[in-house]
Amino acid sequence: MKAFAYVNAANEKEAIAALSPSARAGQRDALTAARSGQPSSVPISGGMDLLGLMKDYIVSPDRVVSIKGLDQSIAGADGGLRVGAAAKLADLAEHAQVRKLYPALATAADSVGTPQIRNMGTVGGNIMQRPRCWYFRNEEFNCLKKGGSRCFAVEGENQFHAIFGDGPCHIVHPSSLAVPVIAYGGRFRVAGPNGSRDIDAGEFFQMPNTNLYGESVLQPNEIITHVILPAPGQRSAGYEVRFKQSHDWPLAMASVNLVMSGPTVKSARIVMGAVAPVPWRVPAAERVLAGKTITEAVAVEAATAALAGAKPMSGNAYKIQIAKTAVKRAILKAAGA
Ligand SMILES: Cc1cc2nc3c(=O)[nH]c(=O)nc-3n(C[C@H](O)[C@H](O)[C@H](O)COP(=O)(O)OP(=O)(O)OC[C@H]3O[C@@H](n4cnc5c(N)ncnc54)[C@H](O)[C@@H]3O)c2cc1C
Ligand code: SF4
Repeated sequence: MKAFAYVNAANEKEAIAALSPSARAGQRDALTAARSGQPSSVPISGGMDLLGLMKDYIVSPDRVVSIKGLDQSIAGADGGLRVGAAAKLADLAEHAQVRKLYPALATAADSVGTPQIRNMGTVGGNIMQRPRCWYFRNEEFNCLKKGGSRCFAVEGENQFHAIFGDGPCHIVHPSSLAVPVIAYGGRFRVAGPNGSRDIDAGEFFQMPNTNLYGESVLQPNEIITHVILPAPGQRSAGYEVRFKQSHDWPLAMASVNLVMSGPTVKSARIVMGAVAPVPWRVPAAERVLAGKTITEAVAVEAATAALAGAKPMSGNAYKIQIAKTAVKRAILKAAGA
């Protein structure tokens, strides 16, 4: 790993200052960033993703800024929920209010990796983790996303890649938490040198044809400080399909959030994960549910609509059925079936 300076920021203000160096150092940083295409200062939370990236020379910053001092609280706020970016995944998974009111979020947090990973990994780090594409993670492959000229997944091993999106990069978005956050209509509060702002989680992540080298609208000198959720619908749930139950990411997942009028769905938000470069909201499936009472047939119809536009690669057509099942079961689970 390349040698780097380490800054232990005690709080949000210090973190932003350390990520936005002084004007003189800033010029040097700008030069470094321009040469490498990477920011010269990066935040570190639990470090589980970042250290792996640094060891494999995928990210080689000059300065690593610890942001463990950010808010770790999980609490009700304005009729919804506010989660500090430094909250541990384990604390989120076990939080009584989250389990009761935001079960899709609790399911997602509870299913991440292993107990050790959930005790170390933070909410902010989970949301900002980089893609798992094995060509991206392997320093021997200078693929499109790293400034190279081709996507190796197109003709290579693509069984875990995207079934939605038109490329040119075919990653799947890796954060399990981001999927329910979007289903619940959440926002990310971000802070940077110009202050703090809220970004709709559904507009936070970017497709590769908009941002090939990054995955979100977050600027290098900004950090996520909180996840803010509004009050949930009356019924919600998440469902994940995994190759193995531990120590891995889902093959496909779905989060469903339903606003009900008695037994009838008034409106729905359905988001799939692990199928596209961003968490994949499916309005066509949401429209199927609106105005209906949920039955198995309705859930199947919505799940079929959710996968209607899928374009599998050579090795991942199997994901269509898996994602369909995840959507169907998340809907039925939300409905209490
Ligand atoms: C075996 C294994 C299985 C896993 N399974 C799953 C899974 O099923 N689902 C899932 O979602 N994840 C899974 N993970 C990923 C794991 O959840 C993440 O690696 C972890 O949450 C990252 O959190 P961290 O605090 O360690 O982040 P770090 O490694 O510290 O940071 C990750 C990235 O985010 C940036 N960053 C960190 N915090 C912030 C912030 N507040 N604002 C802006 N940028 C920030 C860092 O610069 C870095 O680029 C798995 C990991 C392993 C090793
Ligand atoms: S899917 Fe993206 S990250 Fe993976 S090889 Fe292709 S361009 Fe690189």
